[in-house]
Amino acid sequence: MSIRIARLHGQRDLRVETLPDPEPAPGEVVVAIGAGGICGSDIHYYTHGGIGEMIRVQEPIIIGHEAAGTITALGEGVEGLSVGQRVALNPSHPCGRCSFCEKGAHQHCLNMRFKGSAMFMPHEQGFFRDRIAIGAAQCYPIAEGVPMAEAALSEPLAVCRRAITRALEVAGTLEGKRVLVTGAGPIGALCVALAKHFGASEIVVTDLQDATLAVAKDVGATRTVNVATHGADLTEYEAEKGYFDIAFECSAAQPALRSAILCTRPMGTIVQVGVMGDTPVPFNLLVSKEINLIGTHRFDKEFGQAVELINTQAMVLAPIVTHSLPIADAVIAMELATDRGKAVKVQITFD
Ligand SMILES: [Zn+2]
Ligand SMILES: [Zn+2]
Repeated sequence: MSIRIARLHGQRDLRVETLPDPEPAPGEVVVAIGAGGICGSDIHYYTHGGIGEMIRVQEPIIIGHEAAGTITALGEGVEGLSVGQRVALNPSHPCGRCSFCEKGAHQHCLNMRFKGSAMFMPHEQGFFRDRIAIGAAQCYPIAEGVPMAEAALSEPLAVCRRAITRALEVAGTLEGKRVLVTGAGPIGALCVALAKHFGASEIVVTDLQDATLAVAKDVGATRTVNVATHGADLTEYEAEKGYFDIAFECSAAQPALRSAILCTRPMGTIVQVGVMGDTPVPFNLLVSKEINLIGTHRFDKEFGQAVELINTQAMVLAPIVTHSLPIADAVIAMELATDRGKAVKVQITFD
């Protein structure tokens, strides 16, 4: 038997190829992937051959780090999991020994092995394949009735749940807060769903596309503003030094960060979720308004929290997955994912 894989050989050179079927090593299970989401980093690898100057695709890599599936085999010594069980896969595999791991800040592990990442050589091979052998500890059981598509949102939801952790560290609570989310891609949309779940009283979302804003509305936005066509609508939030208590900047666009700083009240908090290169920041405003501008990176315990949230089905997540295509159409799926006017989350399915 063999499995199909979606392997990137270079810029815009994604090939569906085959590999021998994996066997589980001791402590591993084999998971038949059900659905796998295409993430911004996959898109960057595909369209630019890497992310910035630092992370480059230097050898063929099976992309994908957002997936859920069904266990088909158990390796020696695996307990608490069973064949036929559905699980979300945590792509994060910290070393457990470095100085950050010892402090419990696994997201900063110095020897992180993150599935589908070209950060280190050899690259860590990812999830876009029929079956994978993976450590049992990276498998999180999915509750009965949760669609596979939603289970496969665990990883991006964990990223957003980490952004919430960071906001809570500074702001204490989201209950009754006015929240701004800039950027309505998958990460923006998931931040909206979480902000609603955590009790925000108002959630205003900005983007350049009506289609993605419509999804943001479906998952909990109280108002959406297309800044391409109705940018002036935001100026009302700049009055009296700003309106929002907390902003999640998910667009990685300089103008969005600028308007987040303009629209956030003094002593408010901005969580920079989107990753952008060197970019000009209106520091005078940031400093004089005493705004907390904080970073957020991947996730740690937030993966389990995200799976728990998905399992309770407490949030509306289905509208975020706008497209799903079979692995045979991986290239079409990739191209579709680059089209922000159409797609929010594109997933690849396996059967
Ligand atoms: Zn991702
Ligand atoms: Zn470590």
